[in-house]
Amino acid sequence: MMSYTCPVCEYVYDERIGAPREGFAPGTAWESIPDDWCCPDCGVREKVDFAPTEEVSR
Ligand SMILES: [Zn+2]
Repeated sequence: MMSYTCPVCEYVYDERIGAPREGFAPGTAWESIPDDWCCPDCGVREKVDFAPTEEVSR
């Protein structure tokens, strides 16, 4: 699982958590997010701008 961070407001999309208020259920893969989806917090960055962060859980 990966998480993706908005470079502007540091909103984090975590695939394990999803974004329920955006309509993405927990476990929704990043690939399933529409390319024109904007950051729900700042609204100025789109999916392509998010920085992938590999989960460091073991
Ligand atoms: Zn943002």
